[in-house]
Amino acid sequence: MKTDIANRCALITGASKGMGKAIAHGLAREGVDICIVARNEETLASTAKDIESETGVRVFWKTGDVSKPSDIRDIFNFACEKLGKVDILLNNAGGPKPGNLLSLSEDDWSAAIDQTLRSVIRLTTLAVPGMMERKWGRIITITSTVAKEPSATMVLSATTRAGVTAFTKSLSSDLAPQGITVNTVGPGGVLTDRLRGLLEIRSKSEDIPLDNLLHENQKIIPMGRYASPDEIADYVVFLCSERGRYITGTALCVDGGLTKGVF
Ligand code: NAD
Repeated sequence: MKTDIANRCALITGASKGMGKAIAHGLAREGVDICIVARNEETLASTAKDIESETGVRVFWKTGDVSKPSDIRDIFNFACEKLGKVDILLNNAGGPKPGNLLSLSEDDWSAAIDQTLRSVIRLTTLAVPGMMERKWGRIITITSTVAKEPSATMVLSATTRAGVTAFTKSLSSDLAPQGITVNTVGPGGVLTDRLRGLLEIRSKSEDIPLDNLLHENQKIIPMGRYASPDEIADYVVFLCSERGRYITGTALCVDGGLTKGVF
């Protein structure tokens, strides 16, 4: 399938590892020049080097924390300066901490809202004017299955992801006439450091060996296996491509059948 995005430029946050890295790699393989962002310089620089040497596209990197407004401005200015434009904005970062209502503090709520919801609003606000001028854009945010199927122990994630999903839907009708699509992608069961970290917390608190939890958790996925980050990236690349031009305002879960709702 021809994606026809070789002349495009993408800003991808949370991209030193996991799904963000796989998405950056996937877009670079289609000839998209990229700017990747994460907090850890060493991992980020090494990811950038890997992608550049494999694909030959221009790869820029910038350290930054998307929960901080000043970092967001620096990240966006850097991307515009190096790439010349941002056609594709991929919003991603680590997920909020797990826990149910009474285990969470005021600071936990502020941190989750800043990192997961406000970062998306801030970056999108910066990216939209240029996309409108050029009459082309793709804005995609990585959310979670809990946006559709909330869980009591992931209340920070469920609440903020639902906010991102509503924000995305709100924007989509405004931006559709401008050639800009806005979508969320809800992953589930992707074996990354994030998933492993959540299971490690459970393993300690419930005193269950990690391997048992990994096995149990896999069994509840209808596909019967975890996803690799590339399987999420494949769908994101499709959404970014010319082939995905009529898809906007959606919140699709790429989760091996994990979520049980119809919509
Ligand atoms: P990961 O931990 O492998 O990667 C997260 C990336 O984001 C890393 O590059 C990290 O350095 C970066 N990052 C974290 N916080 C940041 C910040 N404040 N500013 C800038 N960069 C930051 O995680 P992943 O599994 O690829 O998850 C990506 C997103 O998908 C997360 O929000 C996660 O909660 C969500 N998610 C994952 C799964 C899964 O099955 N893995 C399921 C549902 C939702």
